[in-house]
Amino acid sequence: DIDCIYEALLNTAIDSDSLEANSYLDEVCIKEVIKKAGMKLKWSKLKQDKVRENKDAVRRLQADPALLTPRSPVVTIMGHVDHGKTTLLDKLRKTQVAAMEAGGITQHIGAFLVSLPSGEQITFLDTPGHAAFSAMRARGAQVTDIVILVVAADDGVMKQTIESIQHAKDAQVPIVLAINKCDKAEADPEKVKKELMAYDVVCEDYGGDVQAVHVSALTGNNLMALAEATIALAEILELKADPTGPVEGTVIESFTDKGRGPVTTAIIQRGTLRKGSVLVAGKCWAKVRSMFDENGKTINEACPSLPVGIIGWRDLPSAGDEILEVESEARAREVLDWRKYKQEQEKNKDDMKIIEEKRKEHQESHWKDREKYGTLNWKERSFLKYQEKKEQKFLKPKEKAERDSNVLPIIIKGDVDGSVEAILDIIDTYDASHECKLELVHFGVGDISENDVTLAETFGGIIYGFNVNAGNIIQQSATKKQVKIKLHKIIYRLIEDLQEELSSRLPCIV
Ligand code: GDP
Repeated sequence: DIDCIYEALLNTAIDSDSLEANSYLDEVCIKEVIKKAGMKLKWSKLKQDKVRENKDAVRRLQADPALLTPRSPVVTIMGHVDHGKTTLLDKLRKTQVAAMEAGGITQHIGAFLVSLPSGEQITFLDTPGHAAFSAMRARGAQVTDIVILVVAADDGVMKQTIESIQHAKDAQVPIVLAINKCDKAEADPEKVKKELMAYDVVCEDYGGDVQAVHVSALTGNNLMALAEATIALAEILELKADPTGPVEGTVIESFTDKGRGPVTTAIIQRGTLRKGSVLVAGKCWAKVRSMFDENGKTINEACPSLPVGIIGWRDLPSAGDEILEVESEARAREVLDWRKYKQEQEKNKDDMKIIEEKRKEHQESHWKDREKYGTLNWKERSFLKYQEKKEQKFLKPKEKAERDSNVLPIIIKGDVDGSVEAILDIIDTYDASHECKLELVHFGVGDISENDVTLAETFGGIIYGFNVNAGNIIQQSATKKQVKIKLHKIIYRLIEDLQEELSSRLPCIV
């Protein structure tokens, strides 16, 4: 509906250029909308975020069905521990190495290709087990077309077998069953098939559609039959991809190579990767310097379903990151800037949440304090609370008694921040090993207040004022409460006074 789209566009302040460049809409529709707008829509500062979002045009594109060509399947091997996944992968890889003319050195690049005599190919991801599979899926990457479920015929369905089935089902990936260890005398393939029915994996000879192949990863028996069954399933799935247009893929593994720098292995899922292509993945970008296959051989092109090592990354992307091709380095930077910006926005949101929670917490405790401490201000309350905690937590009765006789609680008031700070600094450097310790109950700027007197009374402390006054009423109240107020106009006099007071409180030396 053109009107609806037009309305929506007005709200996103998109211009006709970016509409054309980024839209999923078809051309006719775009033209009509632009015509209806009658002009380039105005930029709005407020709506720049939206526009920037549209600038992040590197999304997976919808493929044109006419351009789709068949591609080979990408397979993950899953199953219970010790059921033979690694052995199976090794054997499959070796069939390839043997088939190669020079028997090159196989490199672990996270995936490898197996070619059948018929010319068909299968890409095996070579990290077995469902941990890798679900880690990739958790990052939104879906590279696997088919799961080969390995079940040892002498052991049957086990915990991780069931988990693997669940993972495949969640990802809606079909299964080919490899009943392994069939070379063993105690192997019972039929038992495996029957057990699997309880998990909705029904083999063909039990009326279901799951192909089961009896294999021995150890001897290599029937591995080609397993590969053929996989190809047969792939044909049913009609796996296709568009080998033209911008490249899309997924990072399978990434590591830093001493000589080559950051390297990734990827499965290409659309387009054809070539030297010089500019790619983005996660927060990294690459200008492809060179590519290699699992035999370490340099290749010039990588088409869909092909595992490929890519050199030329500026940083190291993570496994599962989506790879997308962009038209230029400038564009790559723009996209990464955008992603960074988005991430920061998310982070800010999180921060705001935390701040809001803290604020609420604070508010609640504030009201509780109000009930408990009445009209004292926040600083005074904090000190009181601190004292309470200290007494509850750290001081045993005996220590408390000692403390009471040897500690001089003080309250410092000054005319400005600077003078209070200066006094606190001097107190700080005052010999800590002194037998009588100062305990700063409260400090602040301004004349002596009733609160100060109350605090001093509570703690049995002395109020020291620097360049401040104590009004008549305050003086009277202090006398009544037997609180000493000492006012000074020279800092060192105040300190001297303090030291005298400390000495007078020292235990008598007989
Ligand atoms: P994974 O934990 O699933 O990767 O299992 P492994 O591939 O490490 O195999 C576990 C053990 O089973 C090893 O000792 C293998 O040699 C053995 N094994 C694997 N496949 C077969 C097989 O087809 N027949 C026999 N007899 N042993 C096998």
